[in-house]
Amino acid sequence: MNAAIRGRSRPVYMDHAATTPVRPEVVEAMLPCFSERYGNPSSVYALAREAQVTLEKARGQVAEAIGAATEEIYFTSGGTEADNWAIKGVAAANRKKGDHIITSAIEHHAVLHSCRTLEKQGYRVTYLPVDEFGRVEPAAVEEAITDATILISVMAANNEIGTIQPIAAIGEIARDHGIPFHTDAVQAIGAIPIDVDSMGVDLLALSGHKFYGPKGIGALYIRKKTRIGTFMDGGAQERGRRAGTENVPGAVGLGKAIELAVAEMPENVTRLTAMRDRLIREILETIPDTRLNGHPTERLANNVNVAFRYIEGESILLMLDTLGVAASTGSACTSASLEPSHVLTACGLPPEQAHGSLRLTLGSQNTDEDVDYVLSVLPRVVERLRKMSPLNPER
Ligand SMILES: *Cc1c(COP(=O)(O)O)cnc(C)c1O
Repeated sequence: MNAAIRGRSRPVYMDHAATTPVRPEVVEAMLPCFSERYGNPSSVYALAREAQVTLEKARGQVAEAIGAATEEIYFTSGGTEADNWAIKGVAAANRKKGDHIITSAIEHHAVLHSCRTLEKQGYRVTYLPVDEFGRVEPAAVEEAITDATILISVMAANNEIGTIQPIAAIGEIARDHGIPFHTDAVQAIGAIPIDVDSMGVDLLALSGHKFYGPKGIGALYIRKKTRIGTFMDGGAQERGRRAGTENVPGAVGLGKAIELAVAEMPENVTRLTAMRDRLIREILETIPDTRLNGHPTERLANNVNVAFRYIEGESILLMLDTLGVAASTGSACTSASLEPSHVLTACGLPPEQAHGSLRLTLGSQNTDEDVDYVLSVLPRVVERLRKMSPLNPER
C-alpha cells in the first residue's frame, strides 16, 4: 500500500547512522568462510592455517584504513564492545595511577554507560559540556585534566547530529599530558579521514555495520604499550586479550568493507554532501519554525538533523513510515524511550524541541529522487501534525 501511495516500489531508507545494508562485494568475500573455508584459526592443519591467514589479512585491511600496525587491531563484537573494553580496560589497568576520566556529554551510550558503571565502582568522571553546535572545546579538555586523570574519551563524530570533533587538537593535549586518548570513531569511518598517529589517538572503536559491513563485528585499535586490561578470559586469541574463537567471516567482511569505505570516501562525501545540503536548505526554507541541529559545516556528509517546533519527533517518524520513509529521531537506542535526546539537550535545546527533532542519514543507495520525495512529503507531514499539536499556540 505504501508503494501505491508513493508510486514507487522501494522505500526510502534514510537511517544509515543506525545501520547500513551489507554490500554485495562484502557478502561475496564472506561466503567461503562459512562453508569450505571454515577452519578454526587456532588449530594446526592446513585448513586452520588458511583461516589464520585470512583473519590476519582482514586485520591488515582494518589497520591500513586507520594508519595503524596490524598487531594493534583487536576484533570485537562491534562498536559497543570496543568502547566498553577501551574505557573499562584502561580504567582497570591504571587504577593505581588515578581514578579520573574525561569524556563528553554527547557520547554514545556505549561510552556514557561504561563511564556510569565506573562511577559506581568509585571512579570520577568529568562529562564535558558542548557548544550549541555540539562541539567539545579542546581547551576545556585541558582544563579538566588533573593528576588523577587516566583516560580521555571523545567521539570522532556524533551519531545523532553528525558534529565532527577536533580530535587531533584533543589528541595533542592528551599526548602532552601523557594521558591515553580513546575515540569512538564508529560514525567516522568512511566519512572523514582517520589516521591514529596524526590524530594522537591511542584507542579507537569502529563497527562493521555502520559502513556496509556485517553486524556483530567491530574492532578496537590499541596503540602499542597502552596499558589496558584483558576483555575476555579464555584462550589465547587476539594476543590473549580477547578470548573466544574468532568470527572469521565477520572479520573478513569488516576488512573488505573498511577497505572499500576508505577507497570510495572522496566521491561518497561529495555526493552525499550535495544531497545533505539540499535537504537542509529546503527544509529550513519551506517549513517555518525549524532549526538545524548540529554544526553547519563541521558535520558528517550524510547527516541531516532538524528540530520542528510544536511537534513530537515520534509522530513524524510514524507518519513518514506510512509514506515509505525510514528515518529516526536520534539514536536507535534512545528513540524507543521517552527521554529527550541527551545530545540535543547538551546542545541547549529545551526538552520539547529536542522531542521534535528528526534525523535523516543518507547512504549509498539514496538518490536525488529520494531527496525530492522526502522534500515533497515532509512539509505536509509537519503541517498536519502541527494542526493537531497541543503545543502549537496557533492551533
Ligand atoms: C552504532 C554506534 C555504536 C555501537 O556500535 P555497535 O556495533 O552497534 O555496537 C557506538 N558508537 C557510535 C557513535 C555508534 O553510532
